[in-house]
Amino acid sequence: MNAIRTTMLLSIGMLGTASLVAYNLGTKPGPLFVMAAAGLACAFAAVFIAREPVAPPPEPPAALPDHQPIHEHPEFAGLFDAMRLPLLLVGQGRVRAANRSARELLGSFIVGADVRTAIRHPAAADRLANPRAGSSGGTIDLVGIGRPGQRWEMRTRALEDGSRLVMLTDQTARDAVEKMRSDFVANASHELRTPLAAILGFVETLSDPDAGNDPALRERFLSVIDKEARRMLRLVEDLLSISRIEARKAELPTETHDLGRLVRDAVAEIAAGGNARAHDIAVEGGETSEGLQVRADPAQMSQLVHNIVGNAMKYGHPGTPVTVRIMPSGPQMVELSVADRGDGIPAEALPRLTERFFRVDSARSRTLGGTGLGLAIVKHVVERHRGRLDIDSVEGQGTTVRVLLPLAAPAM
Ligand code: ADP
Repeated sequence: MNAIRTTMLLSIGMLGTASLVAYNLGTKPGPLFVMAAAGLACAFAAVFIAREPVAPPPEPPAALPDHQPIHEHPEFAGLFDAMRLPLLLVGQGRVRAANRSARELLGSFIVGADVRTAIRHPAAADRLANPRAGSSGGTIDLVGIGRPGQRWEMRTRALEDGSRLVMLTDQTARDAVEKMRSDFVANASHELRTPLAAILGFVETLSDPDAGNDPALRERFLSVIDKEARRMLRLVEDLLSISRIEARKAELPTETHDLGRLVRDAVAEIAAGGNARAHDIAVEGGETSEGLQVRADPAQMSQLVHNIVGNAMKYGHPGTPVTVRIMPSGPQMVELSVADRGDGIPAEALPRLTERFFRVDSARSRTLGGTGLGLAIVKHVVERHRGRLDIDSVEGQGTTVRVLLPLAAPAM
């Protein structure tokens, strides 16, 4: 509009100037022609400028009036409730607003309540009731709110209008992971200390000239030292295996292998190891001409077979069969199962079998050379291969361990 106005003024100015010139030159047709030409030029200029697109003026910002508190803004409740983190808005010692998560955690009565009633925790209440506390003071640990055993962390941030935003973060899962890690270190240290203490004890006894010179005693003690040292070695190897597999658990193996062949190779290795029960192992299936191809890490698959078949030989009754089967399971999966006839496993222990160092009978496992890590390793290998592990057992009859693996897509 400004452009049109300017052009119109310009036109009038130019017409005025032209009239002046015409007046000075008299009333001959020449000056009249100059006037008409100037008028026409101005009209064209006005039309041309009016057609130019004019940018619309910018929208005024949706300003919050100075007197309106932030929680009274029409968009506030929706935005606040959309946050999954429990959030509160606190001002003058009262809870002005609480989002859905905070209401579920602390109760819907907290909106409008005194902060000391809303969060029944002395350090938190002190911080929130004190108007000078601002956002300083770092985090505050809150226990006793939410479910039993939960730990929350409270952080505050001062807003411009003098109120404070209170954020609560659930730290329970992080604590559980930290506890698992420290339990694991404690258990591993304990498992290593037991054979080490035995080795040191026997070495000390052998250093005594009286005992050390007795050939029969010497022989017996040396064999115990050898057994304990091997136990330590197995434990250290299993610990290294777990950390290696865990480090690569997100990577699906790239090589494709025939599962039947991998299993038969591993069983042949077990038999070659001279285990007294090796002749009880019978392998069935997995001999189709095309093979049952899976994407697999051959070393980890071999370790899986060693651990499951090893357990079946350890905990199954001597002289009973250990049956290893490989068979297709639907169009996309293949199943490897290992069944033994033994004492079986109590139903309540089944969910815990893959925990590190869990044993149904610790003394029996140790006597049989177990580390308590075999099935934890199996679980990790299965997870890395995107498979599934199932353990069925009937007390007094025996146990069947099943591993389901996805078949590799046929090469194009
Ligand atoms: P371990 O080295 O003690 O054998 P695992 O992790 O391999 O450790 O197995 C955990 C526990 O599960 C064993 O100590 C044993 O109590 C039980 N278990 C595993 N396999 C069998 C089985 N085939 N029959 C009976 N109990 C078993």
